Amino acid sequence: MNKTQLKKIKKTILKKETLVFDQLVKKQKEESFKFCENYKDFLNQSKTERKAAGQIVQAAEAEGFVDINTLATKKSKTIKKVYKAFQGRCVALAILGKHGLVTGANIIASHIDSPRLDLKQNPVYEDLSMGLMKTHYYGGIRKYHWLAVPLALHGTIIKANNETIDITIGEDPEDPVFTVTDLLPHLAGKTQADKKISDVFEGEKLNLIAGSLPLGSDEEKGRFKLGVLNLLNKNYGIVEEDFVSAEIEAVPAEKARDIGFDRSMIGSYGQDDRVCAYTSLKAILNTRSPDRTAIALFFDKEEIGSEGSSGAKSNFLEDFMSDLLFIGGENTDNRALRKALINSSCLSADVNAAMDPDFKEVHEAMNAAKLGFGICMTKFTGVGGKSGSSDASAEFVGKIRQIFNKNNIVWQTGELGKIDQGGGGTVAKFLAKFGMNVLDCGPAILSMHSPFEVSSKADVYMTYLGYKAFYSDND
Ligand code: MN
Ligand code: MN
Repeated sequence: MNKTQLKKIKKTILKKETLVFDQLVKKQKEESFKFCENYKDFLNQSKTERKAAGQIVQAAEAEGFVDINTLATKKSKTIKKVYKAFQGRCVALAILGKHGLVTGANIIASHIDSPRLDLKQNPVYEDLSMGLMKTHYYGGIRKYHWLAVPLALHGTIIKANNETIDITIGEDPEDPVFTVTDLLPHLAGKTQADKKISDVFEGEKLNLIAGSLPLGSDEEKGRFKLGVLNLLNKNYGIVEEDFVSAEIEAVPAEKARDIGFDRSMIGSYGQDDRVCAYTSLKAILNTRSPDRTAIALFFDKEEIGSEGSSGAKSNFLEDFMSDLLFIGGENTDNRALRKALINSSCLSADVNAAMDPDFKEVHEAMNAAKLGFGICMTKFTGVGGKSGSSDASAEFVGKIRQIFNKNNIVWQTGELGKIDQGGGGTVAKFLAKFGMNVLDCGPAILSMHSPFEVSSKADVYMTYLGYKAFYSDND
Protein backbone atom coordinates (compact mmCIF):
# COMPACT_ATOMS: atom_id res chain seq x y z
CA MET A 1 0.00 0.00 0.00
CA ASN A 2 1.44 3.38 -0.96
CA LYS A 3 1.29 6.60 1.05
CA THR A 4 -1.55 8.13 -0.96
CA GLN A 5 -3.75 5.07 -0.45
CA LEU A 6 -2.98 5.03 3.26
CA LYS A 7 -3.80 8.71 3.53
CA LYS A 8 -7.09 8.13 1.77
CA ILE A 9 -8.02 5.25 4.06
CA LYS A 10 -7.17 7.32 7.14
CA LYS A 11 -9.24 10.23 5.87
CA THR A 12 -12.21 7.96 5.18
CA ILE A 13 -12.37 5.85 8.29
CA LEU A 14 -10.84 7.78 11.18
CA LYS A 15 -13.01 10.10 13.28
CA LYS A 16 -11.93 13.70 12.99
CA GLU A 17 -11.76 16.27 15.76
CA THR A 18 -12.28 19.82 14.62
CA LEU A 19 -11.30 22.93 16.51
CA VAL A 20 -14.10 25.42 15.91
CA PHE A 21 -11.66 28.27 15.30
CA ASP A 22 -10.00 26.19 12.54
CA GLN A 23 -13.33 25.91 10.74
CA LEU A 24 -14.69 29.43 11.20
CA VAL A 25 -13.74 31.88 8.46
CA LYS A 26 -12.78 35.40 9.55
CA LYS A 27 -16.30 36.78 9.23
CA GLN A 28 -17.80 33.93 11.26
CA LYS A 29 -15.16 34.39 13.94
CA GLU A 30 -16.10 38.05 14.21
CA GLU A 31 -19.73 37.05 14.38
CA SER A 32 -19.03 34.59 17.19
CA PHE A 33 -17.30 37.34 19.19
CA LYS A 34 -20.20 39.73 18.54
CA PHE A 35 -22.68 37.06 19.62
CA CYS A 36 -20.83 36.71 22.91
CA GLU A 37 -20.98 40.43 23.69
CA ASN A 38 -24.76 40.08 23.98
CA TYR A 39 -24.32 36.82 25.84
CA LYS A 40 -22.18 38.58 28.47
CA ASP A 41 -24.88 41.24 28.87
CA PHE A 42 -27.43 38.47 29.40
CA LEU A 43 -25.22 36.87 32.07
CA ASN A 44 -24.83 40.20 33.87
CA GLN A 45 -28.58 40.81 33.81
CA SER A 46 -29.51 37.24 34.79
CA LYS A 47 -27.68 36.41 38.01
CA THR A 48 -30.67 34.57 39.48
CA GLU A 49 -33.40 32.35 38.05
CA ARG A 50 -35.96 35.14 38.53
CA LYS A 51 -33.80 37.70 36.73
CA ALA A 52 -33.08 35.22 33.93
CA ALA A 53 -36.78 34.43 33.56
CA GLY A 54 -37.49 38.16 33.33
CA GLN A 55 -34.82 38.64 30.64
CA ILE A 56 -36.18 35.73 28.63
CA VAL A 57 -39.77 37.00 28.74
CA GLN A 58 -38.62 40.51 27.78
CA ALA A 59 -36.63 39.19 24.79
CA ALA A 60 -39.56 36.99 23.71
CA GLU A 61 -42.07 39.84 23.90
CA ALA A 62 -39.76 42.05 21.86
CA GLU A 63 -39.88 39.38 19.13
CA GLY A 64 -43.67 39.23 19.17
CA PHE A 65 -44.23 36.26 21.48
CA VAL A 66 -47.58 36.46 23.29
CA ASP A 67 -48.35 35.34 26.85
CA ILE A 68 -50.28 32.08 26.36
CA ASN A 69 -52.34 32.75 29.48
CA THR A 70 -53.99 35.68 27.71
CA LEU A 71 -55.13 33.28 24.96
CA ALA A 72 -56.53 30.66 27.29
CA THR A 73 -60.12 31.55 26.55
CA LYS A 74 -60.02 31.64 22.76
CA LYS A 75 -58.45 29.56 20.06
CA SER A 76 -56.25 31.80 17.99
CA LYS A 77 -55.24 30.57 14.57
CA THR A 78 -53.15 33.62 13.79
CA ILE A 79 -50.88 33.62 16.82
CA LYS A 80 -47.94 31.30 16.31
CA LYS A 81 -45.43 32.53 18.89
CA VAL A 82 -46.29 32.18 22.57
CA TYR A 83 -44.65 32.01 25.97
CA LYS A 84 -45.59 30.97 29.46
CA ALA A 85 -43.84 32.16 32.61
CA PHE A 86 -44.57 30.27 35.81
CA GLN A 87 -43.99 31.60 39.33
CA GLY A 88 -41.49 34.03 37.86
CA ARG A 89 -38.86 31.31 37.91
CA CYS A 90 -39.37 29.10 34.88
CA VAL A 91 -40.37 29.92 31.32
CA ALA A 92 -41.43 28.15 28.13
CA LEU A 93 -41.40 29.59 24.60
CA ALA A 94 -42.98 28.01 21.55
CA ILE A 95 -43.40 28.61 17.85
CA LEU A 96 -46.30 26.57 16.53
CA GLY A 97 -45.22 24.42 13.60
CA LYS A 98 -46.96 23.70 10.33
CA HIS A 99 -47.66 20.15 11.50
CA GLY A 100 -49.97 19.50 14.42
CA LEU A 101 -48.37 19.36 17.84
CA VAL A 102 -49.71 15.84 18.27
CA THR A 103 -46.99 14.73 15.83
CA GLY A 104 -44.41 16.03 18.31
CA ALA A 105 -42.27 19.09 18.95
CA ASN A 106 -38.56 19.85 18.85
CA ILE A 107 -37.77 20.78 22.44
CA ILE A 108 -34.63 22.32 23.97
CA ALA A 109 -34.60 22.29 27.77
CA SER A 110 -32.08 24.24 29.83
CA HIS A 111 -32.03 25.47 33.42
CA ILE A 112 -31.64 29.02 34.72
CA ASP A 113 -30.77 28.37 38.38
CA SER A 114 -27.13 28.29 39.48
CA PRO A 115 -25.32 27.38 42.71
CA ARG A 116 -25.28 30.22 45.23
CA LEU A 117 -25.75 31.19 48.88
CA ASP A 118 -29.37 31.71 49.96
CA LEU A 119 -30.13 33.78 53.04
CA LYS A 120 -31.70 31.73 55.80
CA GLN A 121 -35.18 32.59 57.03
CA ASN A 122 -33.79 34.07 60.27
CA PRO A 123 -30.57 35.49 58.87
CA VAL A 124 -29.51 38.63 60.74
CA TYR A 125 -27.38 38.41 63.87
CA GLU A 126 -24.34 40.08 65.37
CA ASP A 127 -20.98 38.90 66.57
CA LEU A 128 -18.12 40.98 67.94
CA SER A 129 -18.72 44.40 66.42
CA MET A 130 -20.43 43.33 63.23
CA GLY A 131 -23.87 42.68 61.81
CA LEU A 132 -23.90 39.38 59.90
CA MET A 133 -26.30 37.23 57.88
CA LYS A 134 -26.56 33.47 57.87
CA THR A 135 -26.77 31.60 54.54
CA HIS A 136 -27.65 28.11 53.39
CA TYR A 137 -25.87 27.14 50.20
CA TYR A 138 -27.91 26.05 47.15
CA GLY A 139 -26.58 23.41 44.77
CA GLY A 140 -23.15 21.84 44.57
CA ILE A 141 -20.58 24.39 45.60
CA ARG A 142 -16.96 24.16 46.65
CA LYS A 143 -17.38 26.20 49.81
CA TYR A 144 -13.96 27.88 49.68
CA HIS A 145 -14.92 29.53 46.36
CA TRP A 146 -17.29 31.75 48.29
CA LEU A 147 -14.82 33.12 50.81
CA ALA A 148 -13.19 36.53 50.48
CA VAL A 149 -14.98 37.51 47.25
CA PRO A 150 -17.45 40.37 46.71
CA LEU A 151 -21.04 39.14 46.70
CA ALA A 152 -24.23 40.85 45.54
CA LEU A 153 -27.70 40.26 46.97
CA HIS A 154 -30.75 39.65 44.77
CA GLY A 155 -34.06 38.98 46.36
CA THR A 156 -37.80 39.01 46.53
CA ILE A 157 -39.48 39.70 49.84
CA ILE A 158 -43.18 39.31 50.58
CA LYS A 159 -44.14 41.62 53.42
CA ALA A 160 -46.83 40.95 56.02
CA ASN A 161 -49.27 43.13 54.05
CA ASN A 162 -48.53 40.98 50.95
CA GLU A 163 -46.53 43.74 49.28
CA THR A 164 -43.63 42.47 47.15
CA ILE A 165 -40.21 44.08 47.51
CA ASP A 166 -37.45 43.27 45.01
CA ILE A 167 -33.91 44.10 46.00
CA THR A 168 -30.64 44.16 44.06
CA ILE A 169 -27.59 45.35 45.98
CA GLY A 170 -24.03 45.03 44.75
CA GLU A 171 -24.39 44.99 40.97
CA ASP A 172 -23.97 48.73 40.40
CA PRO A 173 -20.31 49.81 40.78
CA GLU A 174 -21.54 52.40 43.31
CA ASP A 175 -23.30 49.77 45.42
CA PRO A 176 -21.79 48.20 48.52
CA VAL A 177 -21.13 44.45 48.41
CA PHE A 178 -21.11 41.64 50.97
CA THR A 179 -18.48 39.05 51.76
CA VAL A 180 -17.77 35.85 53.67
CA THR A 181 -14.47 36.08 55.54
CA ASP A 182 -11.62 33.59 55.28
CA LEU A 183 -8.93 32.53 57.70
CA LEU A 184 -5.52 34.11 57.20
CA PRO A 185 -2.78 31.64 56.16
CA HIS A 186 -0.70 32.67 59.18
CA LEU A 187 -3.22 31.10 61.52
CA ALA A 188 -4.72 28.40 59.32
CA GLY A 189 -2.10 25.76 60.11
CA LYS A 190 -3.39 24.11 63.27
CA THR A 191 -7.06 24.60 62.49
CA GLN A 192 -7.07 23.47 58.88
CA ALA A 193 -3.82 21.93 57.65
CA ASP A 194 -4.39 18.32 58.71
CA LYS A 195 -8.12 18.24 58.07
CA LYS A 196 -10.03 16.84 55.10
CA ILE A 197 -11.21 19.55 52.71
CA SER A 198 -14.83 18.68 53.52
CA ASP A 199 -14.16 19.37 57.21
CA VAL A 200 -12.19 22.58 56.68
CA PHE A 201 -15.01 24.57 55.15
CA GLU A 202 -18.28 24.37 57.02
CA GLY A 203 -21.63 25.41 55.61
CA GLU A 204 -22.55 27.11 58.88
CA LYS A 205 -19.51 29.37 58.53
CA LEU A 206 -20.64 30.86 55.23
CA ASN A 207 -21.94 34.00 56.92
CA LEU A 208 -22.08 37.37 55.19
CA ILE A 209 -20.69 40.54 56.72
CA ALA A 210 -23.56 43.01 56.55
CA GLY A 211 -22.44 46.06 58.54
CA SER A 212 -20.48 47.47 61.45
CA LEU A 213 -22.23 50.71 62.39
CA PRO A 214 -24.12 50.26 65.66
CA LEU A 215 -27.53 51.73 66.39
CA GLY A 216 -27.63 53.32 69.82
CA SER A 217 -25.10 53.60 72.61
CA ASP A 218 -22.82 50.87 73.94
CA GLU A 219 -25.33 49.96 76.65
CA GLU A 220 -27.64 48.80 73.89
CA LYS A 221 -27.65 45.03 73.47
CA GLY A 222 -27.70 43.78 69.88
CA ARG A 223 -26.99 47.22 68.44
CA PHE A 224 -25.03 45.94 65.42
CA LYS A 225 -27.84 43.63 64.39
CA LEU A 226 -30.21 46.53 64.98
CA GLY A 227 -28.03 48.77 62.79
CA VAL A 228 -28.42 46.37 59.85
CA LEU A 229 -32.15 45.84 60.38
CA ASN A 230 -32.75 49.55 60.78
CA LEU A 231 -31.12 50.33 57.42
CA LEU A 232 -33.16 47.60 55.72
CA ASN A 233 -36.26 49.08 57.29
CA LYS A 234 -35.38 52.61 56.19
CA ASN A 235 -34.44 51.63 52.63
CA TYR A 236 -36.99 48.91 51.89
CA GLY A 237 -39.59 49.14 54.63
CA ILE A 238 -38.96 45.58 55.75
CA VAL A 239 -38.88 44.16 59.27
CA GLU A 240 -37.07 41.11 60.65
CA GLU A 241 -40.07 38.80 60.26
CA ASP A 242 -40.22 39.59 56.51
CA PHE A 243 -37.15 37.38 55.89
CA VAL A 244 -39.40 34.41 56.63
CA SER A 245 -41.26 34.98 53.35
CA ALA A 246 -38.27 35.98 51.25
CA GLU A 247 -35.89 34.47 48.73
CA ILE A 248 -32.63 36.39 48.89
CA GLU A 249 -29.62 35.04 47.04
CA ALA A 250 -25.97 36.03 47.41
CA VAL A 251 -24.14 35.69 44.08
CA PRO A 252 -20.72 36.82 42.85
CA ALA A 253 -20.82 40.57 42.22
CA GLU A 254 -18.30 40.38 39.39
CA LYS A 255 -19.37 40.88 35.78
CA ALA A 256 -18.70 38.53 32.87
CA ARG A 257 -15.25 39.16 31.40
CA ASP A 258 -13.22 38.17 28.37
CA ILE A 259 -10.38 35.80 29.17
CA GLY A 260 -6.99 35.61 27.48
CA PHE A 261 -4.82 38.00 25.46
CA ASP A 262 -6.95 37.05 22.46
CA ARG A 263 -10.30 37.45 24.28
CA SER A 264 -11.35 34.03 22.97
CA MET A 265 -13.01 32.86 26.18
CA ILE A 266 -15.57 34.12 28.69
CA GLY A 267 -15.28 33.98 32.45
CA SER A 268 -18.47 34.42 34.44
CA TYR A 269 -20.66 33.18 37.25
CA GLY A 270 -23.74 31.23 36.19
CA GLN A 271 -22.69 29.90 32.77
CA ASP A 272 -24.03 26.54 34.02
CA ASP A 273 -26.57 26.72 32.65
CA ARG A 274 -27.35 30.18 31.38
CA VAL A 275 -25.04 29.52 28.43
CA CYS A 276 -27.58 26.97 27.20
CA ALA A 277 -30.49 29.21 28.21
CA TYR A 278 -29.10 32.09 26.16
CA THR A 279 -28.10 30.05 23.11
CA SER A 280 -31.44 28.21 22.99
CA LEU A 281 -33.28 31.51 23.51
CA LYS A 282 -31.45 33.07 20.56
CA ALA A 283 -32.01 29.91 18.53
CA ILE A 284 -35.79 29.93 18.98
CA LEU A 285 -36.03 33.71 18.50
CA ASN A 286 -34.25 33.30 15.16
CA THR A 287 -36.28 30.30 13.97
CA ARG A 288 -38.81 31.06 11.19
CA SER A 289 -41.97 28.99 10.57
CA PRO A 290 -40.69 25.53 11.49
CA ASP A 291 -42.50 22.39 10.31
CA ARG A 292 -42.45 20.90 13.79
CA THR A 293 -43.41 23.05 16.76
CA ALA A 294 -40.29 24.52 18.40
CA ILE A 295 -40.25 24.71 22.20
CA ALA A 296 -37.61 26.21 24.50
CA LEU A 297 -37.89 25.35 28.19
CA PHE A 298 -36.04 27.21 30.91
CA PHE A 299 -36.31 25.30 34.17
CA ASP A 300 -35.54 26.22 37.76
CA LYS A 301 -34.23 23.95 40.57
CA GLU A 302 -31.99 21.73 38.39
CA GLU A 303 -29.10 22.23 40.78
CA ILE A 304 -31.08 20.68 43.64
CA GLY A 305 -32.53 17.74 41.73
CA SER A 306 -35.18 19.41 39.53
CA GLU A 307 -37.64 19.27 42.42
CA GLY A 308 -40.45 21.70 43.15
CA SER A 309 -43.18 23.29 41.09
CA SER A 310 -40.74 25.18 38.84
CA GLY A 311 -38.33 22.28 38.27
CA ALA A 312 -38.25 19.76 35.44
CA LYS A 313 -40.00 17.10 37.56
CA SER A 314 -43.11 19.30 37.73
CA ASN A 315 -46.12 19.31 35.40
CA PHE A 316 -45.02 22.56 33.74
CA LEU A 317 -44.28 21.03 30.34
CA GLU A 318 -47.53 19.02 30.23
CA ASP A 319 -49.49 22.11 31.17
CA PHE A 320 -47.77 24.19 28.49
CA MET A 321 -48.23 21.48 25.85
CA SER A 322 -51.94 21.17 26.57
CA ASP A 323 -52.27 24.95 26.24
CA LEU A 324 -50.47 24.70 22.89
CA LEU A 325 -52.86 21.98 21.72
CA PHE A 326 -55.75 24.22 22.77
CA ILE A 327 -54.65 27.42 21.03
CA GLY A 328 -53.65 25.42 17.95
CA GLY A 329 -57.23 24.16 17.71
CA GLU A 330 -56.13 20.55 18.23
CA ASN A 331 -57.68 17.80 20.29
CA THR A 332 -56.86 18.50 23.94
CA ASP A 333 -57.69 15.17 25.54
CA ASN A 334 -55.17 13.23 27.58
CA ARG A 335 -54.36 10.88 24.72
CA ALA A 336 -53.46 13.77 22.39
CA LEU A 337 -51.22 15.28 25.06
CA ARG A 338 -49.45 11.97 25.63
CA LYS A 339 -48.92 11.54 21.88
CA ALA A 340 -47.57 15.09 21.57
CA LEU A 341 -45.09 14.31 24.34
CA ILE A 342 -44.04 10.86 23.18
CA ASN A 343 -43.58 12.05 19.58
CA SER A 344 -41.32 14.92 20.62
CA SER A 345 -37.54 15.13 20.35
CA CYS A 346 -35.54 16.88 23.02
CA LEU A 347 -32.09 18.29 23.53
CA SER A 348 -31.39 18.49 27.24
CA ALA A 349 -29.32 21.65 27.06
CA ASP A 350 -26.70 21.59 29.77
CA VAL A 351 -22.96 22.00 30.10
CA ASN A 352 -20.36 19.26 30.31
CA ALA A 353 -16.94 19.47 31.95
CA ALA A 354 -14.12 20.39 29.59
CA MET A 355 -10.82 18.64 30.23
CA ASP A 356 -8.76 20.81 32.57
CA PRO A 357 -5.00 21.04 31.81
CA ASP A 358 -4.31 20.94 35.56
CA PHE A 359 -6.68 18.09 36.39
CA LYS A 360 -6.44 15.74 33.42
CA GLU A 361 -6.40 12.76 35.78
CA VAL A 362 -10.14 12.93 36.50
CA HIS A 363 -10.97 12.53 32.81
CA GLU A 364 -10.57 9.73 30.32
CA ALA A 365 -8.89 11.61 27.48
CA MET A 366 -10.46 9.67 24.59
CA ASN A 367 -13.98 10.46 25.74
CA ALA A 368 -13.63 13.79 27.54
CA ALA A 369 -14.91 17.03 26.04
CA LYS A 370 -12.39 19.75 25.24
CA LEU A 371 -12.72 23.52 25.19
CA GLY A 372 -13.06 24.89 21.67
CA PHE A 373 -14.12 21.67 19.94
CA GLY A 374 -17.76 22.59 19.52
CA ILE A 375 -21.11 21.61 20.96
CA CYS A 376 -20.83 18.47 23.05
CA MET A 377 -23.19 15.49 22.79
CA THR A 378 -23.33 13.61 26.10
CA LYS A 379 -25.02 10.28 25.43
CA PHE A 380 -25.28 9.40 29.09
CA THR A 381 -24.60 10.94 32.48
CA GLY A 382 -24.99 9.23 35.84
CA VAL A 383 -22.82 7.84 38.61
CA GLY A 384 -21.21 4.41 39.08
CA GLY A 385 -22.17 2.52 35.92
CA LYS A 386 -24.48 5.14 34.33
CA SER A 387 -26.82 4.90 37.31
CA GLY A 388 -29.45 7.64 37.20
CA SER A 389 -28.93 8.38 33.52
CA SER A 390 -31.55 8.17 30.79
CA ASP A 391 -28.88 7.16 28.22
CA ALA A 392 -29.91 8.41 24.76
CA SER A 393 -30.61 5.82 22.08
CA ALA A 394 -28.20 5.17 19.22
CA GLU A 395 -31.01 6.12 16.85
CA PHE A 396 -31.53 9.55 18.38
CA VAL A 397 -27.81 10.32 18.70
CA GLY A 398 -27.60 9.30 15.06
CA LYS A 399 -30.33 11.72 14.13
CA ILE A 400 -28.74 14.67 15.93
CA ARG A 401 -25.35 13.76 14.44
CA GLN A 402 -26.92 13.87 10.97
CA ILE A 403 -28.53 17.26 11.64
CA PHE A 404 -25.22 18.66 12.89
CA ASN A 405 -23.20 17.24 9.99
CA LYS A 406 -25.71 18.50 7.44
CA ASN A 407 -25.43 22.02 8.89
CA ASN A 408 -21.64 22.14 9.39
CA ILE A 409 -21.99 22.23 13.16
CA VAL A 410 -18.69 21.41 14.88
CA TRP A 411 -19.53 18.82 17.53
CA GLN A 412 -17.75 16.54 19.93
CA THR A 413 -18.77 13.94 22.46
CA GLY A 414 -18.17 14.06 26.17
CA GLU A 415 -18.33 11.89 29.24
CA LEU A 416 -18.45 13.54 32.67
CA GLY A 417 -15.17 12.27 34.11
CA LYS A 418 -13.54 8.87 34.35
CA ILE A 419 -15.58 5.82 35.30
CA ASP A 420 -16.24 5.82 39.06
CA GLN A 421 -14.57 9.22 39.42
CA GLY A 422 -17.85 10.91 40.35
CA GLY A 423 -20.61 11.98 38.02
CA GLY A 424 -23.75 14.02 37.73
CA GLY A 425 -27.13 14.38 36.09
CA THR A 426 -29.30 16.80 34.14
CA VAL A 427 -32.99 17.30 33.36
CA ALA A 428 -32.74 14.65 30.60
CA LYS A 429 -34.36 11.78 32.48
CA PHE A 430 -37.31 13.87 33.65
CA LEU A 431 -38.22 14.55 30.02
CA ALA A 432 -37.36 11.06 28.83
CA LYS A 433 -40.06 9.68 31.17
CA PHE A 434 -42.68 10.98 28.70
CA GLY A 435 -41.25 8.63 26.11
CA MET A 436 -39.62 11.30 24.00
CA ASN A 437 -36.07 10.97 22.70
CA VAL A 438 -33.65 13.06 24.77
CA LEU A 439 -29.95 13.77 24.33
CA ASP A 440 -27.77 15.97 26.54
CA CYS A 441 -26.19 18.58 24.35
CA GLY A 442 -24.34 21.80 25.22
CA PRO A 443 -20.90 23.37 25.47
CA ALA A 444 -18.13 22.08 27.73
CA ILE A 445 -16.81 24.53 30.31
CA LEU A 446 -13.96 24.78 32.82
CA SER A 447 -14.32 25.48 36.55
CA MET A 448 -17.97 24.36 36.51
CA HIS A 449 -19.98 25.48 39.56
CA SER A 450 -17.33 28.03 40.50
CA PRO A 451 -18.00 31.80 40.69
CA PHE A 452 -15.98 32.20 37.48
CA GLU A 453 -16.78 29.47 34.99
CA VAL A 454 -14.87 29.50 31.70
CA SER A 455 -16.40 28.94 28.26
CA SER A 456 -15.00 29.24 24.75
CA LYS A 457 -16.65 31.83 22.52
CA ALA A 458 -16.35 29.36 19.67
CA ASP A 459 -18.30 26.72 21.61
CA VAL A 460 -20.96 29.21 22.71
CA TYR A 461 -21.53 30.27 19.11
CA MET A 462 -21.48 26.68 17.82
CA THR A 463 -24.02 25.71 20.49
CA TYR A 464 -26.33 28.45 19.24
CA LEU A 465 -25.93 27.28 15.63
CA GLY A 466 -26.46 23.67 16.67
CA TYR A 467 -29.68 24.46 18.55
CA LYS A 468 -30.92 26.53 15.61
CA ALA A 469 -30.25 23.67 13.22
CA PHE A 470 -32.21 21.34 15.51
CA TYR A 471 -35.25 23.63 15.54
CA SER A 472 -35.12 24.01 11.79
CA ASP A 473 -34.91 20.27 11.15
CA ASN A 474 -38.01 19.15 9.35
CA ASP A 475 -37.83 15.33 9.40
MN1 MN B 1 -26.33 22.38 34.58
MN1 MN C 1 -24.83 22.40 37.51
